[in-house]
Amino acid sequence: MKLQKIFVTIIFAINLIGVLNFIHQDAFSEQPKIKTLIIDGDNNHNWKGTTPVLKKILEDSGRFTVDVISLKKVENNYVVAAVSENLPQNLINNDFNNIFDKFDLVVSNFNNHRGGSWSDATKEAFEKFVKNGRGFVVYHAADNAFREWKEYNKMIAIGGWGNRNEKDGPYLYINNEGKIIRDDSKGRGGSHGKRWTFTLTNQTPEHPVMKNLPAKFKQTVEDELYDLMRGPAENVTILATAPSKDTKRHEPILLAIDYGKGRVFHTALGHDVPQIQSPAFVITFLRGAEWAATGKVTITPQKNLENETE
Ligand SMILES: [Zn+2]
Repeated sequence: MKLQKIFVTIIFAINLIGVLNFIHQDAFSEQPKIKTLIIDGDNNHNWKGTTPVLKKILEDSGRFTVDVISLKKVENNYVVAAVSENLPQNLINNDFNNIFDKFDLVVSNFNNHRGGSWSDATKEAFEKFVKNGRGFVVYHAADNAFREWKEYNKMIAIGGWGNRNEKDGPYLYINNEGKIIRDDSKGRGGSHGKRWTFTLTNQTPEHPVMKNLPAKFKQTVEDELYDLMRGPAENVTILATAPSKDTKRHEPILLAIDYGKGRVFHTALGHDVPQIQSPAFVITFLRGAEWAATGKVTITPQKNLENETE
């Protein structure tokens, strides 16, 4: 058992080294690091597995420092259950509405899939944080969270599950003629077919996140292709799409949203640990996170991505 554990750890470490070789780490030393907070603690996904990998991807890029708070549900509200080593222990068992101002960027790996919500004070503080010009990254099932929180849905533009339907806003996608469609028709929000290695199309090569990335690149680890996503879809730029076998639409997979003076990067990629170690995830996540925090991207596109087409 113990040997097996060591073996798994070594394999994991080798994998991660492999992924991080895709990143160029030059020229970051003069820039202040982006202070990042990852929020997790509840999710219908493997947050315990994915958060340490997200943290390592960000830190090893040389561009970010990362702290983590893990939440737990107490009655109908979420409070802090655990904090990473550099955060004050007295946050534990308390609300976290005062924490955001210490950071440039929040990454959500959180989904309140069992109901319950953040306190009104925390929601307001978080809205202010983004509205006043900070960054937010919505990662995979974080776009399933908070159907009832209007401002959150504006931040993420589109979401899925949690009983979302036509009342939450239009479906957003690109049709076969390349036209952006906002479709008010009735129906569920959020679905995905069997996992597969789909190809992403770069829809906005002029956007800082997508600039100099290939016109097409592949998610090389079988992943969920989120489709039928719907929401307010305001102030949103579709950065990349993938073709759903079920809807026959080009579904938005990477999005950039303006919220007040703040910026939101939304990635629907990355169901579990293997999926977030792929070049397509790592590169777009790092560039999206840097853009959300600063409005600029200095993390160099890696060459391997160009070979990841079909
Ligand atoms: Zn998933």
